[in-house]
Amino acid sequence: MADPKGFLKHPRADAPKRPVDERLGDWQEVYAALSAEARADEVATQAARCMDCGIPFCHSGSAGCPLGNLIPEWNNMVRRGQWSAAGDRLHATNNFPEFTGKLCPAPCEAGCVLAISPDAGGAVAIKRVEETIAEVAWDNGEVVPQVPELHTGKRVAVVGSGPAGLAAAQQLTRAGHEVTVHERDDRIGGLLRYGIPEFKMEKSALDRRLGQMRAEGTKFVTGCEVGVDLTVAALRERFDAVVLAVGALRGRDDRTIPGRELDGVHLAMEHLVPANKEREGDGPSALTAEGKHVIILGGGDTGADCYGTAIRQGALSVTQLDNYPQPPTARDDDLSPWPTWPYVLRTYAAHEEGGERRFAVAIEEFVGDEQGRVRAVRLREVSVQRDADGRRQVVPVSDEVQELPCDLALLAIGFEGVERMPLLDGLGIELTARGAIACGSTWETTAPDVFVCGDAHRGASLVVWAIAEGRSVANAVDAHLTGDSHLPNPVHPT
Ligand code: SF4
Repeated sequence: MADPKGFLKHPRADAPKRPVDERLGDWQEVYAALSAEARADEVATQAARCMDCGIPFCHSGSAGCPLGNLIPEWNNMVRRGQWSAAGDRLHATNNFPEFTGKLCPAPCEAGCVLAISPDAGGAVAIKRVEETIAEVAWDNGEVVPQVPELHTGKRVAVVGSGPAGLAAAQQLTRAGHEVTVHERDDRIGGLLRYGIPEFKMEKSALDRRLGQMRAEGTKFVTGCEVGVDLTVAALRERFDAVVLAVGALRGRDDRTIPGRELDGVHLAMEHLVPANKEREGDGPSALTAEGKHVIILGGGDTGADCYGTAIRQGALSVTQLDNYPQPPTARDDDLSPWPTWPYVLRTYAAHEEGGERRFAVAIEEFVGDEQGRVRAVRLREVSVQRDADGRRQVVPVSDEVQELPCDLALLAIGFEGVERMPLLDGLGIELTARGAIACGSTWETTAPDVFVCGDAHRGASLVVWAIAEGRSVANAVDAHLTGDSHLPNPVHPT
């Protein structure tokens, strides 16, 4: 039995971070390395705050974990020091719990009963417990390949190697299918490799999972754009089913802002991808922030990734602009574009490292020099409102125009759906009005034997949703190929 008063005895404590000076001297994860004993003791205390609720909103309901992580169960196991059992329970619902422990904004914590009561001291530190269970399992050699005992003789192509594609591939391989993951880039991992900076998740965490998957039998092909390097006809001939996990990488732009065409104004991924490639040893980034005044449009995850990256690259200044007020004037959920509600929590480790955030402002103009390079931005204070048709509108609320120096502007204002690619045309794939790949109730697209999951279906979202959709599409493909499936099926198409 959990201690129902544990949260009264122990305050919430998040994972300790390394000093800012130290972490700016490298690109490694911001969190401090604790001894195994200290880590176990501290996290067991945090797990002891869990009340084992009769209705655990952390793992059920609209606000809970999409994977259905058995949070109260493993909190109780950790509290008792039963780390191996906790690792088993965690892996029962999540292929890559260290990814979610490091990267997910934790809708489970937002759903925790202790987060709802202002006197309870804050949600159980679920992310921290989850990540620690996973790391202890790795340290103890308990994360081992699960090689299938039977083989179905069916072949599945997974296109895209982000978290959704990897989760689908691992589930389908373990179900006995012959799975090949195709990645058009030169390394496996999708956004985990080239979108997420190392200071949020070191690539060694990704590589050890890929090692586990290879040992289980999943095959990987890099530098292969399916639809071009592998034709649609060859894809159809070689595979019995296809899973599209191609992400939603079409970055939102705003060409209506005067000066958008100036040199030095870029989409966020044009900055993050080469920065991450540099960390992989591919040579200096062609778009570094070193010695520049950097302006970032957008207050979400991608903007924060640019923020921390620019600071580490040696920017002269970094300023992140957000249309929304801080703190929120009311419950801003209705107006917020973010895929999880606790907008008030959207402060990241990078924001402790320098730079400045400006809230309730919008760019009116990028100002150029005589060479056509951006040299400044002009801002105005704004309010976000809904118009008569319910659409979000950013409305100026001041006549004063402010000017900030700017040598590099990064637009981190969201993503608009899947990129146009020959594969989708070749397969005859239909898109939704939101630019996502359309599918029916079994995740099958408008092309027979072709399925979709992750951001390509959902639009840009959380890593936990990507893994959950990857697991569910694996269930659907397994059933499609064999007539039935015992694989878990945590979520359903929207
Ligand atoms: Fe524990 Fe919070 Fe989940 Fe309740 S809602 S079971 S306190 S983690």
